[in-house]
Amino acid sequence: MENKASVMVQSYELGRLLGQGTFAKVYYARNTVNNQSVAIKVIDKGKITKTMLIDRIKREISIMRLVRHPNIVYLYEVMATKTKIYFVLEYAKGGELFDKVAKGRLNEDVAWKYFYQLIHAIDFCHSRGVYHRDIKPENLLLDENENLKVSDFGLSALVESERRDGLLHTICGTPAYVAPEVISRKGYDGAKADIWSCGVVLFVLLAGYLPFHDSNLMEMYRKIEKADYKCPSWFPREMRRLLSRMLDPNPVTRTSIAMIRQSSWFKKGLRSMNVRSGTKDDAIAAVSDGNQEMDRPPTLNAFDLVSLSTGFDLSSLFEDDSRKKETLFTCRKPASVLLSKLEEIAKLVRFRVQKKEAGLLRLEALTEGKKGVLSIDTEIYEVTSSFYLVEMKKSNGDTLEYQKILKEDIRPALQDIVWVWRGEHEQQQQRKPWPRPRPNDRSSV
Ligand code: AMP
Repeated sequence: MENKASVMVQSYELGRLLGQGTFAKVYYARNTVNNQSVAIKVIDKGKITKTMLIDRIKREISIMRLVRHPNIVYLYEVMATKTKIYFVLEYAKGGELFDKVAKGRLNEDVAWKYFYQLIHAIDFCHSRGVYHRDIKPENLLLDENENLKVSDFGLSALVESERRDGLLHTICGTPAYVAPEVISRKGYDGAKADIWSCGVVLFVLLAGYLPFHDSNLMEMYRKIEKADYKCPSWFPREMRRLLSRMLDPNPVTRTSIAMIRQSSWFKKGLRSMNVRSGTKDDAIAAVSDGNQEMDRPPTLNAFDLVSLSTGFDLSSLFEDDSRKKETLFTCRKPASVLLSKLEEIAKLVRFRVQKKEAGLLRLEALTEGKKGVLSIDTEIYEVTSSFYLVEMKKSNGDTLEYQKILKEDIRPALQDIVWVWRGEHEQQQQRKPWPRPRPNDRSSV
């Protein structure tokens, strides 16, 4: 694959360079099978985080592969060679939103539309435990209908540790969009950090310039930490109030997405923005398409299932050996059914459920094995309220012991609630052709 990378990456024909970020180059490309335009982001493996973040990156990428929202750039496929990772993305034909702002500030109803779509996209991902952490102009793109597309959801963690070491800010530009708690490298809440960045975006859309700006970087940090900014005279009062809540330097008191949705400026847009231009209608139509998608289980097709099979095995991206230790499956039962099944299995194999928090269940053997107490972490990710991605991974003990118990006890016991095991699709494909279990069939839910 790599030999031909200048022209072809698997079935994609690479075209012009669309843009270049700190860690990646993005090319226009065409899928030679279906002629679809895509954008391919190429990242050098040497530049990505090699820390414990990898687990989170894998989880977030897996989730982003399974969810779809009209205001989020869709991730079609991930491919890897020894040295590079290729993310095949939905192509945002309209380019960067901020190229528009560079030509002059936007009027209120247009700014409202983009902000409205941005908040919906952020809310959608936050509700699935995925945080952007790097909302900035380059990540806000437009499609051919001038709808906002947020890019890089789930991918920003790839470069997070580098981004947070502070040093790179001076090399790669200003931290103009970054929340104060991120700059000061305190542990931070991804949701609150994203809200701060959305506040900066809102300011820029309506002002045409940055709220925190100084040629001296230290002075700029100081301004960010104190939320020292001035609104131009044309900012509406209600919008100023919302902005001050978003640009609160204290993440604890900073507003939430739910409160933004309740704010008078946000709601005013829904009632009274310039309907003549069609702006409001377009914005709402685009977002409501997303709501429909959120309400139903994602429509998975053969391509999507590959994401759970070896074709999308992210462990190969990082050359770790996690594949040996982890097992991944999807489940289309309610959370309560899934949880009680896991508890039942724990009893069956004489394990105790040791920890249960934010989707993590640790199963621990009651007796000590060859290499200490065997424990299995089970992480449950909600894709929709009736669709879950579950990852089981040995966190302590003997690997052979773990594999045996998994094969002989756990997997058979889970069989009636598992929809698809990772890797199952490929095996099925070898045995018999499509169709697989019907993704749209809700009868089993
Ligand atoms: P990034 O590395 O994500 O900051 O991307 C660098 C630049 O490539 C962006 O600023 C965009 O101009 C362009 N780009 C990234 N993703 C896409 C996409 N999906 N469609 C079109 N252009 C993109």
